[in-house]
Amino acid sequence: QLTTGLESAWNKLRGVDVLTKENISEPMRDIRRALLEADVSLPVVRRFVSSVSEKALGADTIRGVRPEQQLVKIVHDELVQLMGGEVSDLVFTKSGPTVILLAGLQGVGKTTVCAKLAFYLKKLGKSCMLVAADVYRPAAIDQLTILGKQVGVPVYSEGTEAKPPQITKNAMEEAKSKNIDAIVVDTAGRLQVSLLCIPFNFQPKVTAHGILIDKAMMDELKEVKKAVNPTEVLLVVDAMTGQEAAALVTTFNIEIGITGAILTKLDGDSRGGAALSVKEVSGRPIKFVGRGERLEDLELFYPDRMAQRVLGMGDVLSFVEKAQEVMRQEEAVELQKKIMSAKFDFNDFLKQSQNVAKMGSMSRVIGMIPGMNKVTPAQIREAEKRLAFVESMINAMTAEEREKPELLAESRERRIRVAEESGKTEQEVSQLVAQLFQMRAQMQKLMGMVQGQEAIAGMG
Ligand code: GDP
Ligand code: MG
Repeated sequence: QLTTGLESAWNKLRGVDVLTKENISEPMRDIRRALLEADVSLPVVRRFVSSVSEKALGADTIRGVRPEQQLVKIVHDELVQLMGGEVSDLVFTKSGPTVILLAGLQGVGKTTVCAKLAFYLKKLGKSCMLVAADVYRPAAIDQLTILGKQVGVPVYSEGTEAKPPQITKNAMEEAKSKNIDAIVVDTAGRLQVSLLCIPFNFQPKVTAHGILIDKAMMDELKEVKKAVNPTEVLLVVDAMTGQEAAALVTTFNIEIGITGAILTKLDGDSRGGAALSVKEVSGRPIKFVGRGERLEDLELFYPDRMAQRVLGMGDVLSFVEKAQEVMRQEEAVELQKKIMSAKFDFNDFLKQSQNVAKMGSMSRVIGMIPGMNKVTPAQIREAEKRLAFVESMINAMTAEEREKPELLAESRERRIRVAEESGKTEQEVSQLVAQLFQMRAQMQKLMGMVQGQEAIAGMG
């Protein structure tokens, strides 16, 4: 696992005062090995390691920050940069339907992504139509039709006789006439590397990157692209692809030109190498990740979250200390006092949520409160989800209600109103209110313990 390799890298730096060429050489070897084991391609690893080394040696020593923490931070920041730095969402055209063309090998999850994107677009309030341009298997059209029904969006199809470029062009005209905001085009991905699976019309072409390409498929994609000039050409990549991901992305980018990628099946036990290679080799970001087979299992890709996941949260890294470095000490103390006082209200709750979001993870904050244990990555993901959920309810409260949670505790009408405005149930609002009071009580108990310990220490 990447995490284990990196952990041994950090451990080797414990006790050193400053990062030097000598003392980073071994940790850098560990990082290099860890990345290779995570299926990151060699050229990407090389560039990454040399860039991290350079930054580590050039970094000024920060008072109060240990060298290994500094290296963690540098590696983290480089990982974020490697993956594109920022989240990048779909781009829409100003007028006319936005065309999103999906490309990728067979079985990577293109058709599934079509439906997931339709679901995502619907949530954004955009109307959308799916286009069946994978005409080589009748089953593919059926699959898309069923998925379209599930999401509740129209599916445009001309059966298996028509040609994909023409289908797509007609679909766009139809979308235009019906004022549909976006169309998502499902295409065929017939590349098969195994010789036994090569169909008769397969004209293999070995690219400079050593990838076998079904030339007919690439040409057809180019034709489709030419016919409709898509705003987004997204390459769907299976997260399990591993080392070949770099060559695959490079090839598709050179052949058809992509605007981004979607990484699917991240819920499996993939080693994440593909995530780290895409941007570096194509200059194009990963826009979404797929984490399961359900419609809602598609999320925007956040490079910083992925970097944290790659590094391993919780006990591997001194994230608590890193948090202190990010969040100013006074602010932390202030918040902690507030949390522990009876005045902790929904404003504090929200501020805390926002701080937490800013720092990317709950564990660091929780870790700062004495007496609480660090949490596992699964708990962190759960907490992140919970955060968004809670925020929408707090946003629906009045200023007075936020300051005086009692108001909500006492009035059912108020809770119902908050529930309606935030699209949650009354029960969910009641639970949130109860949670705030529970937190207050817990914090005060905890503070009692801390003070008690101080008193005992004082006696000695
Ligand atoms: P296509 O050939 O590229 O169109 O791939 P499909 O959309 O038909 O998907 C192939 C298989 O992968 C199906 O069984 C999907 O349910 C599954 N699949 C797609 N996306 C994901 C994902 O994010 N996670 C998991 N576990 N399975 C997925
Ligand atoms: Mg398909």
